Amino acid sequence: MQKLNHCILCHASDFRIIHQKDQWQYLRCLNCGLVCLRPRPFPHSLMKNYQDYLPVQPEEISKWEMMMKPVVVKSANLIESWTKTGRGRLLDIGCGYGFFLQEMNSRGWQVEGIEISRQGRRYVQNRWNIHVHSEPLEDLALHERSFDVVTLFYVIEHVLDPLRLLTEVKRVLKSDGLVLLRWPHSTPIVKILGPMSRKLDLYHTPYHLYDFSPKTINKLLVLSGFKEIETMIGGHTRPSRSLGRWASTVFGQLGEILYFLSGGNLLLPGISKTTLAFKASKRDPADSIPSA
Ligand SMILES: [Zn+2]
Repeated sequence: MQKLNHCILCHASDFRIIHQKDQWQYLRCLNCGLVCLRPRPFPHSLMKNYQDYLPVQPEEISKWEMMMKPVVVKSANLIESWTKTGRGRLLDIGCGYGFFLQEMNSRGWQVEGIEISRQGRRYVQNRWNIHVHSEPLEDLALHERSFDVVTLFYVIEHVLDPLRLLTEVKRVLKSDGLVLLRWPHSTPIVKILGPMSRKLDLYHTPYHLYDFSPKTINKLLVLSGFKEIETMIGGHTRPSRSLGRWASTVFGQLGEILYFLSGGNLLLPGISKTTLAFKASKRDPADSIPSA
């Protein structure tokens, strides 16, 4: 056990090391279970890394497009069945090559994106002609209550202050606005695989600053001012190595099977999860919880 600064979710200060690679350690909060990276990378070095994060080779991009297709379609269907307002304005944070933006655009939504990576921005603007901001949401000062839906695919585990980001997401959402998060949940697989997990590096060290679970993502969303939070599993992530891809596919499917066999009670293996939540209004009790 190692004494450290406080957990961002529960402010407890007792952690256990669950994974180590070079100088990087993943620590689990003994109170709430949140897994986080220590030491913390500097914000400017993170930004610099993400500016050149995405590959530019057309083969890589089309492989990515094919792998993301089921996730894109499933997420678009989920949003259309969950939104109370019908087609409206959507913001995709960390939009990458814009596959999801384009899907929603083709369904009649008014869309825009945020992407730190230059390659990503250029691609979205050239191929889809969709507007993409280059700055993080917290620096954009967008009008409050301007979006019906905000989506974050594989973003929340990469940001230094996810509470601040989601609080800002809440601010730019209209009342009854919907947020969709797609995120990897690697810790159960790391536990199951034991020492073998070190080779796979499912945490993508040091890129994943957090590894959320359904419980900790729920707490994060409540603290940020969201309600009616629901987490579901399915689809596959795209780890860079073949063994990683194998593990994620196998466990992704195993996760789905167990989920259905257990009548929705067992939400453990399965690397990627999707969480949906509505903006809480002033009258909701969740809104009175301080967000910092
Ligand atoms: Zn904690």
